[in-house]
Amino acid sequence: MLHALSFDVEEYFQVANLRHAFAREDWGSVESRLAVGMERILGALERHDAHATFFFLGWIAEQHPDWVRRCLDDGHEVASHGYEHEFLWDLGPERFEEDLARTEGALEVAGAPRPIGFRASTFTLTRKTWWAFETLARRGYLYDSSVHPVRHPVYGVPDFEPGISTVSTPEGPLVEFPVATWRAFGRNWPVGGGGYFRLLPLAVTRRAFARLESAGRPGGLYLHPWEFDPEQPRVPAPWSSTFRHRLNLSRSLPRLEALLARFRFGSFRDALVEAGALPRELTR
Ligand SMILES: [Zn+2]
Repeated sequence: MLHALSFDVEEYFQVANLRHAFAREDWGSVESRLAVGMERILGALERHDAHATFFFLGWIAEQHPDWVRRCLDDGHEVASHGYEHEFLWDLGPERFEEDLARTEGALEVAGAPRPIGFRASTFTLTRKTWWAFETLARRGYLYDSSVHPVRHPVYGVPDFEPGISTVSTPEGPLVEFPVATWRAFGRNWPVGGGGYFRLLPLAVTRRAFARLESAGRPGGLYLHPWEFDPEQPRVPAPWSSTFRHRLNLSRSLPRLEALLARFRFGSFRDALVEAGALPRELTR
């Protein structure tokens, strides 16, 4: 069973949780920490002969095209995380299309093929931004991983199919592959990465993936380069934001390596091909 591993490639200062501490116009003057996390991630993947999807912000692809090329050279999938981490409900349908085009352009200039996968900033593909599926299908995307089938105050579609499914749009179908959730007490709980990966004991993540595997379903995991950089600068932010951002940062790398040693992980594209949800010709 090939599970799907992904990294949303953004800087620590672009995270939604800390967005009030860094103005958009200041991004260019904050020191990049991307290399720290990327080196650690790519090293771990190489040691375990594993692959992943790197959902790049277009802004990052423009500033750091070398990381796009390095991911491609190492055999990973490069996909889109939108241009500058705006929420889909702030973009609206028209600006979303421009945002996608701008990101595709940045990835192309960096040497990547046209992306077939998309993940929205902060899982902001919800019932109120359902139009995004149509836009993605029109622009030739084949899969999306932006719906989080959980209950959450900001995002989430709690009754959405947690496994791989197909969403119909007037522009054609699109495969949806949400990150992993754990079904208990009549609802889905997030176990597929990010803050939960650092908050929950590793045994919980491991059990969740083992359970998915025995049910014959691949799981999707998402992490970020900044989660592998415990030395990143402390940001003046409310206590709760800082806690969520910094919790167990030093455990990300050993936890990832433990999962890579226990399960087979590949890109979202390859996991979808193996699951029969995308055509086999797409495999690298
Ligand atoms: Zn993100």
